[in-house]
Amino acid sequence: MHYDYLIVGAGLYGAVFAHEAKAAGKSALVVDRRDHIAGNVYTERVEGIHVHRYGAHIFHTNNRRVWDYVNRFAEFNRFTNSPVANYKGELYSLPFNMYTFNRMWGVATPEQAAAKLAEQRAEITGEPRNLEEQAISLVGRDIYEKLIKGYTEKQWGRDCRDLPAFIIKRLPVRLTFDNNYFNARFQGIPIGGYTRMVARMLEGVEVRLGCDYLAHKPELDALADLVVYTGPIDAYFGSCLGPLEYRSVRFETELLDMPNFQGNAAVNYTDRKMPWTRIIEHKWFEFGKDEAGNDLPKTVISREYSSEWKPGDEPYYPVNDEKNGALYQKYRALADGEPKVIFGGRLGEYKYYDMDQVIAAALDRSAAELAR
Ligand code: UDP
Repeated sequence: MHYDYLIVGAGLYGAVFAHEAKAAGKSALVVDRRDHIAGNVYTERVEGIHVHRYGAHIFHTNNRRVWDYVNRFAEFNRFTNSPVANYKGELYSLPFNMYTFNRMWGVATPEQAAAKLAEQRAEITGEPRNLEEQAISLVGRDIYEKLIKGYTEKQWGRDCRDLPAFIIKRLPVRLTFDNNYFNARFQGIPIGGYTRMVARMLEGVEVRLGCDYLAHKPELDALADLVVYTGPIDAYFGSCLGPLEYRSVRFETELLDMPNFQGNAAVNYTDRKMPWTRIIEHKWFEFGKDEAGNDLPKTVISREYSSEWKPGDEPYYPVNDEKNGALYQKYRALADGEPKVIFGGRLGEYKYYDMDQVIAAALDRSAAELAR
C-alpha cells in the first residue's frame, strides 16, 4: 500500500493532520515510537481517574475555530485551572491576583494592591531584558522571590537572568479576586480523557505503534509521497549541527488510599529547595468523580521533577533562549531544503506551543497542503 502521507507522531499535530487528510479523501499512515497514541496529552484510566501521564494538560483557547474543532471529538467539562503555590508551607493563589496580594502584603483593596505593585515595580526602569526583570516589572520583588524565582529555576534549570522574558508573560496579573490561571474564552478537560479524543480524530486512519521512524527512515519514506514529521527537528537531521536543548520531566506517580490529598488539581512548590516543581492530583480535573458521577474513594498524584533532556529521555519543552533560537534557525534552513517533509508541532517547530496553538498550526498547514 502506498500512502499520500506518512505522519510521524500520533500526538495532536499528527492526529489533526491525519484527520484532515482523511476527510479530504487522502490516505495517511500514522507511526509512533511509543506504544500508545496521543503523544504527551495521553491519559490513562486508573481507578476511574484519567491520569495525565505526561503532565497536566488543561485545554484553553481564545480561538473559536479551534474550540469548535476539538468539541467535535469530545465534550469538555467546566474545569478551570486555579493552581495554588506552596512556598515553605505558605499557600498563595495563582495567577497573581487580589488573594495573592492580600496574603503577601496584607492589602485588602485594589487601590492598596496597585500602590504596592507600583512601589515594587519601580525597581525596573526600561525594557526588561530577561525573565527576572520581566517578573519584577510585572509583580515586584516580593512575589518574584517567593513565587517565581525558585519555581522557574527548577523548571528550566537556568538562572532567571538567562531566560527569555516571554515565558512569564503568559501569567496574568489581576486586581480582582479571580483565580482562573488562563485568560481564555474557552477552557476545559475532555470528558473521557484526551486519549479518547485523539482516538476519535484518528478514526479510520491506519496507525502503527512501537514504530521508530528515524530507525527505519528509508523504508518508511518509501511508503508515502509526503512526510509530516512531528519529532524533534534536530534528531531528524541526526543532530548534525549539534543538539538543541530541551527540558524533560520525570513523574513519580502514586495511587493513594485516601479520597483527597491536596484539595486541588495542581499545587506548585515554589521554594527552590523542594525537589519537585509541582504535584498534580488528577481526580480534580474531573471534580473527583468518575464518569457516572460517583465520588472516587482513592486518588492518584504525580510529583513532577524537571531535568535537562539527555538522549533516551522524553523531550517536553524547547529551551527558547537566544543560543537555541539561533541553532534552530540553522535546522530550519535545512528543513526548508526538504520539499517532501513538513515539520510541525512543539518539537518539529521547536516552539513552546500550547495545545490550541498546535491544533491551529496543524489545521492551517494541512489546509494549505491539501489545497495544493
Ligand atoms: N511560573 C512561576 N511560578 C508558578 C507558576 C509559573 O514562576 O507558580 C512561571 C515559570 O517561569 C514558568 C512559567 O511561569 O516557567 C510558565 O509556567 P506554567 O506552569 O504555566 O507552564 P507549563 O509547564 O504548564 O507549560
